Amino acid sequence: MTLRVAVVGAGPAGIYAADILTKSDVDVSVDLIERLPAPFGLVRYGVAPDHPRIKEIIKALQRVLAKPEVRFLGNVNFGEDVKLEDLRDFYDAVIVSTGAMADRDLNIPGEGLSGSHGAADFVSWYDAHPDVSQTWEFGDGEKVAVIGVGNVALDVARVLAKTADEMLTTDIPAHVHAGLQSKKITDVHVFARRGPAYAKFSPLELRELNHSPNVEVVVHPEGFEVDDHSMQHITKNKQSKMVLDTLANWVGRDLEGKSHRIHLHFMESPVEITGEDGKVVGLRTERTELVGDGSVRGTGEFTDWDVQSVYRAVGYRSTALLGLPFDENNWVIPNDKGRVLDIDGNPIPGTFVTGWVKRGPVGLIGHTKSDAAETVANLLEDTVETAPARTPEDVDAYLRERGIDLVTMEHWEQIDAREIALGEAQERLRLKLATRGEMLDARTV
Ligand SMILES: Cc1cc2nc3c(=O)[nH]c(=O)nc-3n(C[C@H](O)[C@H](O)[C@H](O)COP(=O)(O)OP(=O)(O)OC[C@H]3O[C@@H](n4cnc5c(N)ncnc54)[C@H](O)[C@@H]3O)c2cc1C
Repeated sequence: MTLRVAVVGAGPAGIYAADILTKSDVDVSVDLIERLPAPFGLVRYGVAPDHPRIKEIIKALQRVLAKPEVRFLGNVNFGEDVKLEDLRDFYDAVIVSTGAMADRDLNIPGEGLSGSHGAADFVSWYDAHPDVSQTWEFGDGEKVAVIGVGNVALDVARVLAKTADEMLTTDIPAHVHAGLQSKKITDVHVFARRGPAYAKFSPLELRELNHSPNVEVVVHPEGFEVDDHSMQHITKNKQSKMVLDTLANWVGRDLEGKSHRIHLHFMESPVEITGEDGKVVGLRTERTELVGDGSVRGTGEFTDWDVQSVYRAVGYRSTALLGLPFDENNWVIPNDKGRVLDIDGNPIPGTFVTGWVKRGPVGLIGHTKSDAAETVANLLEDTVETAPARTPEDVDAYLRERGIDLVTMEHWEQIDAREIALGEAQERLRLKLATRGEMLDARTV
């Protein structure tokens, strides 16, 4: 008998789960149900376009999708086109891996002003997510603020600072290039509440900020404080030490006179986005001081920064899914090592979770692999083949009956080939198709 598993969400977590299932001793058939006409989740719609080496992971993920035991069912929205009870009918087990796509709130006044943007919205725009508007209003401002101290903040700062033409080697479609050309930004100010030892950048990503011919990184000496606790922290954490060493090399150095700058400010806590006539005109921060245990407290000393827009990169969050419990405080589906728990804390039979919606939106693509391994191990321990009433093939018929315009693996290969051909014409590796319509039209069968 064959164990039939539905994986909802074809990001890296879902694809790794499918891969691990196919490598188990059990005979399996896996259907990857994906809302978009394309697989790969945030690897395609989150990782920055000027990070082609990271996007190379897609090749390995694509090999999993090509396995005979795995089917890609794209353009199917779980919760709308297909519900949990349908999947329970078709499959022995369901793994939910819907990731995270929304911005966390910063919870300071002024967040709702025009010109105050969530990083996830901006990322979705520059990565040409087919469900977001194709226009982005940069305004006429030359100075912008980015709030946050992780890799997403660096991605956002880099894309804001680089010239549009620097991005022409990437897979961005024409509307993103045109949008980037319209910006007047010369100075991007990145703000961190804590000291430089606690920055969550990865060392490679930080060093890369310095690689643009048009952008220089300015690390401001005010707030560049390292106390005993910071030193203990970096002794235990190699990545933080590498980050601190790089920042220390840059702090207070002479400017080279490049056209654009990214300024890194530590120990400045944003307290208000200030506005006039509903638009952002500045950011107010409060200087912080180190308390000695890794945390900081406000000093009562405030600064008003002249910026015309603010990008909030303080984290992503998952959203609730129809028919599944959701922990609104931690933005995850409550689970015990991947087993979904009901409101009383009991496992819901045959229902599992993996990836960012399991453990929150932290960690790199590689981390979703070990995560999937844990979930799949528990699935295999718990689940027995029950010969569900209907076969996976019946799913296709069911979806077609409901008017779903299914994107299969074969279709995805056609969409992929079309993007590569468009790229070749411009001596680029790929040019992304930007709308659902364009993607669906690229199918030839
Ligand atoms: C801006 C940004 C940049 C990043 N850069 C890097 C980097 O450079 N290197 C790195 O290693 N990591 C990077 N990461 C982290 C990496 O992207 C994540 O670790 C990883 O994508 C999480 O995988 P996931 O499968 O859990 O979620 P996701 O990648 O979000 O995949 C979830 C999938 O589920 C689908 N889905 C959602 N809802 C539904 C539904 N209702 N029905 C059907 N399908 C649904 C989504 O469309 C998506 O395809 C970055 C993350 C972000 C946000």
